[in-house]
Amino acid sequence: MSRFAYVNGRFVRHGIASVHIEDRGYQFADGVYEVIALAGGRFVDLDLHLTRLERSLGELRIAKPMSDRALAMVLGNLARRNGIRDGSVYLQITRGVAPRDFAFPANAEPQVVATARRARPVDPAALAQGVKAITIPDLRWARCDIKSVGLLPAAMGKQAAREAGAYEAWQYDRDGFVTEGTSSNAWIVTRDDELITRPPTHAILNGITRLVVIELAKAAGLRFVERPFTVEEALAAREAFVTSTTSFVMPITRLDDATIGDGKPGPFVGQLRARYLSHMARIAGAGA
Ligand code: PMP
Repeated sequence: MSRFAYVNGRFVRHGIASVHIEDRGYQFADGVYEVIALAGGRFVDLDLHLTRLERSLGELRIAKPMSDRALAMVLGNLARRNGIRDGSVYLQITRGVAPRDFAFPANAEPQVVATARRARPVDPAALAQGVKAITIPDLRWARCDIKSVGLLPAAMGKQAAREAGAYEAWQYDRDGFVTEGTSSNAWIVTRDDELITRPPTHAILNGITRLVVIELAKAAGLRFVERPFTVEEALAAREAFVTSTTSFVMPITRLDDATIGDGKPGPFVGQLRARYLSHMARIAGAGA
């Protein structure tokens, strides 16, 4: 964990870092966040994360508290102060502190906090064998495209996964189509070697890793189709995997009680993970 956190313009000891109890993030989940990976002391796809952050803030009409340049400096400074070169930073911006009232306060100042975390080593067995996902109904709201700090359904889903000995929970909508994982985007490869992930509507978060992996798949000449897929299609798929800032590209080889494909990570996920790691290595290599 962070030795230092950033809170509204100051770097403070993590153990005593705090915001007011009437912060609207605390009371109403009235805020947004980003998690950005660090590779070799450089941020991975920082511009894409800052673009998504601006979009999330705009959709909720929360004022952008500082320029992208200033934010990048704060986050870089935070990583250095914590001595972290490989890991991630967490950035949260809430609407501000105000007497409790649902409607937006007239002049609250956005509250900005950030922490940094060292990368956890990836379990080699998970990569070699793939991991399990369970399926659960999607209980979330109708604006999952906004990266809001309202994460209770995600917390409940991840807890259900943990209790089932699974890595992730894939959520499905009322029509039986997979939306996404609780903290990752969901992908399958069909028996016809089509790589599929759901289009970025209001039903999912448009993952930055998802966007980069789509480009890598296209560059590799893979047949990519952006469309919703059902739980049944996933169960019958040749391969399945998830993408996220912290998991990168992670093979799913069990879904509920079924085995995906031959039960081993397949060539698509192998190739896309390797290409994504190269993408990160290129960024890390460009650093001082
Ligand atoms: N979907 C959800 C619901 C998530 O919480 C996340 C990770 N925050 C993702 C997808 C993956 O997004 P990214 O690749 O930007 O980490």
